[in-house]
Amino acid sequence: MGVRYSCKQTSTRLTVNLSAIRENHADLSRRVGKAECAAVVKADAYGLGMREVASSLAGSVQTFFVAQPEEGRQLRVFLPDKRIFVLHGFLPGQSEFMIRHGLIPVLNSLQQVREWRSFCQREGRNYPAALQFDTGMSRFGISSDEMHDDAVIGLKPVLVLSHLACADISSDCANQEQLRRFLEMSSVFPGVPRSLAASSGIFLGESYHFEMVRPGIALYGLAPGKEEGQLRSAVTLDARILQIRHLKQGDRIGYGLTYRAKRPMCVATVGIGYADGIFRSFSESGALWIKGRRLPVLGRISMDSLSVDLTDIPAGSLKEGDWVNVIGDDQALDQMAKSVGTIGYEILTSLGDRFDRLYQD
Ligand SMILES: *Cc1c(COP(=O)(O)O)cnc(C)c1O
Repeated sequence: MGVRYSCKQTSTRLTVNLSAIRENHADLSRRVGKAECAAVVKADAYGLGMREVASSLAGSVQTFFVAQPEEGRQLRVFLPDKRIFVLHGFLPGQSEFMIRHGLIPVLNSLQQVREWRSFCQREGRNYPAALQFDTGMSRFGISSDEMHDDAVIGLKPVLVLSHLACADISSDCANQEQLRRFLEMSSVFPGVPRSLAASSGIFLGESYHFEMVRPGIALYGLAPGKEEGQLRSAVTLDARILQIRHLKQGDRIGYGLTYRAKRPMCVATVGIGYADGIFRSFSESGALWIKGRRLPVLGRISMDSLSVDLTDIPAGSLKEGDWVNVIGDDQALDQMAKSVGTIGYEILTSLGDRFDRLYQD
């Protein structure tokens, strides 16, 4: 979870709109009808703050997912009564840790199933566990060959699940193939609640919803394809101008002196850099924004700062200390991700730890 700066003298500000996250959850819930809409808050709620996000969802969400046991332990501290599933299950010897913190492992391999069952046997208790099937992604879950192992047959999971590899492309035939295998494998456990869809799977339609869906990124405002914009963006990122400089024609900017002024220019040094999650590849085509006006990035992005072009902004309209926008109304997160050849998930989870964080509610 890292350090939380609040109202610090920082030059960067990350604003997380918690009511937008709750509205997105309500919107997704409506889309899936009777299915339960859980919340995935792994990786510090995709960099936005697990504590704040999970607490704000706690009024309407009964079931949370994290990736690792340690994330589950942290979440348990402020969600004493919720169901917490751990997607990775546990490593050998960690069964006791799971129970101590009231965590439900997702069992992903025969090894995990066997260890869990013998642990439960020793304790004389039937502790809850979920079971994951590999329906095609070859990442987590037991394969169809392993379904008839004695350890699996005797298991009474509280949830069976699988994960889609291509759900962001609705026309990809891998989706239907995974759905078919999931139906087949889950039929071995009649009556046990089933879950297949993460965010993009929700938009594939009702046949993918089953008894539970597990959105992460859609809660934070990103969804695949044409559904974009129907969800509310939850993230705004701003940075402050540290200096305004006037360059002569021929002056150069930044590491490697890669940018050379073709005319007299006005340039702002802004206090945000790659240590804050602004990818160095953003140097080439990136821009920051001020009230609808584009401020192109000039030269290479440094660890703690970058330079933007103010030449075409009316003189005197910006000064040292003013805020400019990095992610927000003028530059959507997925737009920014595309411009550096990645996805919104990676930008969010790369955001650094030294922002002043504001939680709007
Ligand atoms: C991360 C993850 C999710 C959430 O995925 P989103 O695409 O962010 O909705 C759901 N299920 C599993 C197994 C995951 O690893």
